[in-house]
Amino acid sequence: MANPTPEKARLSVVQPRPENLLRILLIDKDDEDSLSLRREFATCQTALLDFSADTDTAAQMVANGRYDLVAVDPVLPGGFALLKQIKSSYRWVATLVLTADQSPQFMRQAVKCRIDALLFKPETPAEFMEQALLLANAVSTRRQKQQKRVLAIGAHPDDVEIGCGGTLAKHQATGDALYILTLSRGAAGGDVNQRTVEAHRAAALLGAKLEIGSLPDTQMSSGPETIGIIENAVRQLQPTHVYTHCIEDTHQDHRAVHAATLVAARGVPNVYCYQAPSSTVEFRPNLFIDITDFIKKKIEAIDSYKSQTARMEALEPDVILSTARYWGRFAGYVLAEPMRIVRQRDGNTVADSDDTAASKPISVVAG
Ligand SMILES: [Zn+2]
Repeated sequence: MANPTPEKARLSVVQPRPENLLRILLIDKDDEDSLSLRREFATCQTALLDFSADTDTAAQMVANGRYDLVAVDPVLPGGFALLKQIKSSYRWVATLVLTADQSPQFMRQAVKCRIDALLFKPETPAEFMEQALLLANAVSTRRQKQQKRVLAIGAHPDDVEIGCGGTLAKHQATGDALYILTLSRGAAGGDVNQRTVEAHRAAALLGAKLEIGSLPDTQMSSGPETIGIIENAVRQLQPTHVYTHCIEDTHQDHRAVHAATLVAARGVPNVYCYQAPSSTVEFRPNLFIDITDFIKKKIEAIDSYKSQTARMEALEPDVILSTARYWGRFAGYVLAEPMRIVRQRDGNTVADSDDTAASKPISVVAG
């Protein structure tokens, strides 16, 4: 078998990434032209370029990465579908089309994908890099200005995904920074090692950083120990939004975490309580978050918990779906997650994120 050329080998290595670098994904044919574009970026000090010649692989990379810009030649199979998917699921990501096709039919298709910019091939590598950096920098700056910092708190692995998984997916789609704090490893519900692995898988799917505590399952208190752990997370993460258990719940740990969160997050401007399968009929939501576009991600996240889905009816996809459908009717949405507002100081919830500038195109250029 032939060894890859040193150039390609170097370009394909995934290096640890400093947080402040722009991130760009190029999806194009693996030919000399795209290699020259990649080579142009190899010495770039402000951005890192990943590459894929396959749209299925690229879709996974977009889901798992945190790209500022995705540049696509839609001549690749699935290219247009991927562009549409990016704009519906990852609205903060800018999309740039690279094409040799100047036909009106192509233009109509590209516009339907709500692309941010277009460059006609053959563009010079320098021109591509200039436009790509311009766009990536614009979305990165805009995202930082608008970004919310979201902390979702649960007593056990899977609580957060069940209670607010759709809302978290919606935050993720608008480019917000997500953190999950799970206070126990859920020993009462199964093998802790398996549940920990499942929790990490679900958090990765939602693009969230996860911290798991070691409080004793079923014996949590609402006192200093629990408050201290949550306070520490609040101090470190400085969240703008906190989601936690509601008090109307038959599970003692859920009630303890609710009470501890209210103390620990007393300085957080927006605090909401979510519903659990063990919530009582006393739970009375006064905010409904439209998760119609995010139910698939929520069900996928819950499905990460195989040790629980096998034994709990409440985690079956049709129960999750019909619960969201039930709550959706209260707000005129197809599917919703219900929340009880503890505090909503800035009035800036993820519920209105569709109207933010994050979803609006930046510019359309033609080279
Ligand atoms: Zn729980």
